[in-house]
This record gives sequence, C-alpha cells and structure tokens, in this order.
Amino acid sequence: MTPLADKIKAIIRQNGPINVTDYFALCLADPEHGYYQTREPFGTGGDFITAPEVSQLFGEMIGIFLVHAWQKHAKLNTPIRIAEIGPGRGTMMSDMLRVISRLAPDLYENATVHLVETSDRLATVQADTLSAHQGKIGWHKSFEEVPDGFLLLAANEFFDAVPIRQFIKTSQGFRERMVGLDDNGELTFAAGFGGIDPALLPEGHARQPIGAIAEIAPARSAIMQAISDRLFNSGGTALFIDYGHLEPGFGDTLQAVLDHRFDPPLAHPGIADLTSHVDFSALADVARARALHVNGMMSQGPFLLELGIAERAGLLGHGKDLETQDRIRTAVARLVGDGDGEMGELFKVLAVSGPQVALQPFET
Ligand code: SAH
Repeated sequence: MTPLADKIKAIIRQNGPINVTDYFALCLADPEHGYYQTREPFGTGGDFITAPEVSQLFGEMIGIFLVHAWQKHAKLNTPIRIAEIGPGRGTMMSDMLRVISRLAPDLYENATVHLVETSDRLATVQADTLSAHQGKIGWHKSFEEVPDGFLLLAANEFFDAVPIRQFIKTSQGFRERMVGLDDNGELTFAAGFGGIDPALLPEGHARQPIGAIAEIAPARSAIMQAISDRLFNSGGTALFIDYGHLEPGFGDTLQAVLDHRFDPPLAHPGIADLTSHVDFSALADVARARALHVNGMMSQGPFLLELGIAERAGLLGHGKDLETQDRIRTAVARLVGDGDGEMGELFKVLAVSGPQVALQPFET
C-alpha cells in the first residue's frame, strides 16, 4: 500500500474508475507522490539503469551524431538550440556537450542548451551535473517553451514515460481499459464504457480475440507534433531512443519496475516506475505528415557500433588498468548486445530531420 494508492482509491470512490492514461500520469507526475517527483530512479541504488548511466560512451555517441547532423544541415549564422527532453540526471547532456565542444567548438559556442523537464527535483540534479556549462542552459516545462531556432534534439527513454491509453477487446468491440476498485476495495483493471474509432486501431483488430489489448498514445503524438512543427519551420534533427517496436501491434506493454524487478502495474503506484513500449511507427507517421524526412528506424546496437563505439571504447581504455578496461568492455556489451538484459536489440532509434538530410548510420 502506498500513499498514492490511497489517493487514487479516494478519487475512484468519488468519481468512478479512471482510465489508464490518468493512472499512468498520476503515478509518474502527481505533485505530491509522483514517481519522478519523489524517487531517485536511476542507477544501481535506484529502480533501473539507463544507457547514459551505463557508460559515458553512450552520450558521446549521441553527441557525435548531432555534430554529424549539424554538419549535414550546414546551418550557420542562426540561433542553434541543443535540446533534450526528459534528461534524467543530466548525464547524457554532459557527455554530449563534452564531445560537441571538442569536435565542433563553433557549434558549442553558437548554441544555447535547453532541457525540457517536468520534475523540479530532477532539474536541480541536472543543474548540478551540468554546472560546467552554466549560463548556457535553460530549463523548460514543455517543448513549446524552447525558443525558436535551428534544433538539435535528443531524447532517451522519454516517450516510454509519456502516458498511453489502452483499449481491451470485449464482445462489444474495443472498450477503454480503466482502473477501478474490486470487491475488496483494491485497484483492479476493468473494461469501461467508452469505445474507440476503429480507424485508430492497428490493422487486423477485427481478428483479435476477446481480451486483446490495443495501445494508443495521443500525448506522445502531440509532443511529436510540436517537435515536427519546429523542425519543419526552423530546421534541424531530432533523435529518439527508447524501448519499443518498429511496427504497430497488439499487446499490453504497461510495465512497472521496482528495485530492478518487474512489479504488477497496480501494486505500488508512485513507488514503482511505470512505462510502456513506444510505437515508433506512430511517431514516424506524425513526422511524415509534417513533411519531415524520417531517418531510420534501427536498433540501438548497430546504431552505436556504426557510429564507432567500439573504437572509442578502445581509446578510452588505452593505457588503463585491466579492471577499467574490463568495465568498459562490459558496459559496451550491455549497450550494444542482443542478449538477456542487454539493450542493443530492445532499444530502437529514430531520427527525423527537416529539411531532408541523409544521416549516417541510417540507410535512407
Ligand atoms: N533520459 C534520461 C532519463 C529517462 S527517465 C536517461 O536516459 O537517463 C524519464 C525522464 O523524463 C525523467 O527525467 C522525467 O522526469 C522526464 N519526464 C517525464 N515526463 C515528462 C514530460 N512530459 N516532459 C518532460 N520531461 C518528462
């Protein structure tokens, strides 16, 4: 039982069941008890580890990619915004800026840095991590607040934290999946009354069995729309890395993690992290509809390898003791490998650009 569970039960007793989106949003962002407001999620002491926290090489590769994008866009004499949404502890931005300032001092000098973060607590942690770049950085509660200009944007494990809606197939068709109370007053999933326009469901929905779950993410699409509008109007490239799938499909991907273990999603609201898999094809569709060029999508492993993570790891380990070299090797394997607990295949990468530029290592 958690304080947020009590609050959510009281809301349901007062107003009736809430949909999965509202449950998701309360779990992560409730001002009093929300996960990102109250917990320290990252690292070995936290609930999960993200790629930038595994190794500095991750943020460095993203920095190299953004320098490459900037060179391809050949954008000069214009305000440049280096931005990140959902920066966590600020580790990736710190590693990116170190590489950018070395490889492309012009870019570093001419750019301002923008962090989009809803959690005040994490914004304080980010300010600390990035103190070397003080004066260059601004914080924003939403992407729309990032000042206009040529944009180089990166986001790692951001979209998975943006709430989704779920629909469950019943004998009367797909109904919104809700969170209500069972006979004992405990949180439980139930089918609601609200339906969905079948045009919004993935193909093949008519053939799905009773109980099948479809997920849609209007809140993700809205953010992608705002980013796409900016790229269309002012130019630039945005890179997204997340766990998810490249094709739309059916299935319940709502997932809670507590202390490095999976936890039932209704068991510990506000204390467990809550995410869902990202449908990259839906994000790409939004970008295409805004006439952006879609680079990708590819898996994280090949993406990092082709950007040269193995070579960079060799340089980093050069002349160091065996234990350090071993640590670097293990970290790289975790980032690029396709085995159990490794991120290389599970995580996908999507880059969108306006106007069209062909970016490596993407093929199109
Ligand atoms: N990118 C980091 C952190 C991932 S966790 C890493 O890889 O380590 C998700 C991050 O997104 C957290 O910083 C969280 O506070 C932030 N976040 C969640 N919802 C958000 C929203 N709607 N707008 C901006 N940031 C958000």
